Amino acid sequence: MDQIDDPRFAPLVIDHKRFLLWWGLSLFLCKLTSRRQLDYQLNTDGPEVLPNLNRLAGTAQDSRPVNQTLEYFLEKIGPTPLALLRQQMVQRLIRMKALDAARLQGRFLVLIDGTGYLVFNHRHCDDCLTQRHGETTVYMHQVLEAKLVGPAATVISIATEFIDNHDVPSATVGASQEQIKQDCELKALRRLMAGFRAEFPQLRICLGGDGLLACGAGFQVAKDYRCDYIYTFKPGRLPALWQDFQGLLRLCPDQRVEWITPQGVRQVYGWVNGLPYRDSEGRDWTLNALECTETDQEGKETEWSWVTSLDLSHETVVEVATKGGRGRWREENEGFNTQKNSGLNLEHAYSHTCWAAYYFLLQIAHMLLQLVEKGSLLRQWAHEQGKRTAVELYGSLKNMAQRLLESLRYRHWPDAVFDRKGARAIQIRLDSS
Ligand SMILES: [Zn+2]
Repeated sequence: MDQIDDPRFAPLVIDHKRFLLWWGLSLFLCKLTSRRQLDYQLNTDGPEVLPNLNRLAGTAQDSRPVNQTLEYFLEKIGPTPLALLRQQMVQRLIRMKALDAARLQGRFLVLIDGTGYLVFNHRHCDDCLTQRHGETTVYMHQVLEAKLVGPAATVISIATEFIDNHDVPSATVGASQEQIKQDCELKALRRLMAGFRAEFPQLRICLGGDGLLACGAGFQVAKDYRCDYIYTFKPGRLPALWQDFQGLLRLCPDQRVEWITPQGVRQVYGWVNGLPYRDSEGRDWTLNALECTETDQEGKETEWSWVTSLDLSHETVVEVATKGGRGRWREENEGFNTQKNSGLNLEHAYSHTCWAAYYFLLQIAHMLLQLVEKGSLLRQWAHEQGKRTAVELYGSLKNMAQRLLESLRYRHWPDAVFDRKGARAIQIRLDSS
């Protein structure tokens, strides 16, 4: 093969990889929604794009790449270096104690969540998962993530496992879609946790997950990878245990905490420690369970229940439910949902070959965006303008991305912000004080 004529080698000679990385991150930071937009939005009529990105990257490029250059670059490096970059960024945040305010009894809450993120109406590669909907078949890719819940409603991607048709158990005849999904996710979860523990061997964590994980396999994963857990407790998932729990709750009326939140919502907590449970493979477990019944000012009642390895008492039950159990609610709002709906365009196929690399770029950009959107810097600025949050000040996350793009294009960012020492004065904090 003649490499000189191969266009994929030429641009790499010119473009510095750090610059290309920032170029790629800009796609998500400015929420450009498709790769082609790089060529239109970061083009030469934005005079400050080059100097601003050069200083971010510590490079001296005198020309801009085109979107295809990014594609060649990511094809060449693959997803692994980007996963490593994410890991280093998360480790830095942990070391700086920037996330400590969200700890639950010294542990970080790490939510396990899966989603479909690429869907095609034709087979797009050999690894596609297939799903039948009536007459039509869709081809898709799924991902399972561990997301760390930080302060100020931040949700940070910390480990990723892609789910493909290798995870589908061979004996699927007669199995329901739900059963297949569950087997796939539990299989991928083991890989996810193995990778996670290799990267964060000492981190004290509590796994948070939906009712699907509240089973022998879910408890075993937590045990094998030295984690605590708090999983949603659904009556239908563990029916016998649910009956024991309800019976014992009635027998322990003093294990109850009741309070009215500042918003006027009445919450009643009840719990039972030490419930015995034998799973379908004959393994014995001892579980704790709690429930919370909430009545809002209109009299509407909502109930939640969880099983957990954390000890429950009058002192801990509210914290375990609020920081632990309710964390799931946060993921549903701030995690994949935001990545699908806020202009990050998670479900868009940015590439047909190196989609995994784009996936990590998106996760890294979302981490950076959350520091900006939810950090103290813009919050202080918003307060000075008489607003509570940055989103309130700018109107929407989309508007904030628009402002960032304008700023990148037209505003020469002051040299002082690139100076590490000087930047200490404008350090972003995440605590909500
Ligand atoms: Zn595929």
